[in-house]
Amino acid sequence: LVRVRALAKSFGDNHVLRGIDLDVAPGSVTVIIGPSGSGKTTLLRCLNALDVPDAGTVEVAGVALDFAGRRTQPELRRLRAQSGMVFQSHQLFPHRTALENLIEGPVHAQRRPVAEATAAARALLEKVGLAAKADAYPHELSGGQQQRVGIARALALRPQLILFDEPTSALDPETVGEVLAVMRDLAAEGWTMIVVTHEIRFAQQVADHVVFIDGGVVVEEGAPADVLGRPAHQRTRQFLRRIL
Ligand code: ATP
Repeated sequence: LVRVRALAKSFGDNHVLRGIDLDVAPGSVTVIIGPSGSGKTTLLRCLNALDVPDAGTVEVAGVALDFAGRRTQPELRRLRAQSGMVFQSHQLFPHRTALENLIEGPVHAQRRPVAEATAAARALLEKVGLAAKADAYPHELSGGQQQRVGIARALALRPQLILFDEPTSALDPETVGEVLAVMRDLAAEGWTMIVVTHEIRFAQQVADHVVFIDGGVVVEEGAPADVLGRPAHQRTRQFLRRIL
């Protein structure tokens, strides 16, 4: 479903991504791990065209862009529409209820009828266990609940792929589990997911594929039992020792 080749991105002299190749099978869960500053967030943002790569190709669900030349805004929007993004801390509209947060994108960006978008939004809130909170404002929800609304909002746009950028790292420890549980359900339903996380247990249990990134390159990738259990590279071993 996803095919990335020779992806490069710099900010000034800072060469953050130095030639990333990545393949993601439909319906699979890919977990990306790596030290702080290794380029994980930038990679997700490039997949979603929130950051525009300097070079390389990105293909998501049949929409392919070669970043060697300049890309037009409509091309970037087409790539962006393929994936939904869940950020580290929820980025909900503060003055809209949970339900309104879910309806905004489908109605305004995708021009779907309000009644249809509302019905779909209610079903999604139900899926993430928040049907009773449809009319609550973000400040009336716990961090974990806000994050679950954030996931439902990403799903409301009916993406082919969901990108999660450290979705639990800003949460209180006791609410991490409820967000991971929703992500497990989505994986079981067959959503294609790319997850940047330090939750190694989640990676062991849910990932089909684990990618270790350091210094803007893929150092090692493979099945969780291999990359996490029997890492081949010294850098992977060092990283896992630090975070476990
Ligand atoms: P973390 O785990 O800390 O989130 P990361 O692996 O996700 O780290 P990135 O957020 O991708 O790393 O950042 C990689 C590098 O790119 C960092 O040095 C960061 O300062 C730099 N960077 C990211 N975004 C920008 C930007 N918009 N402008 C300038 N530099 C940036």
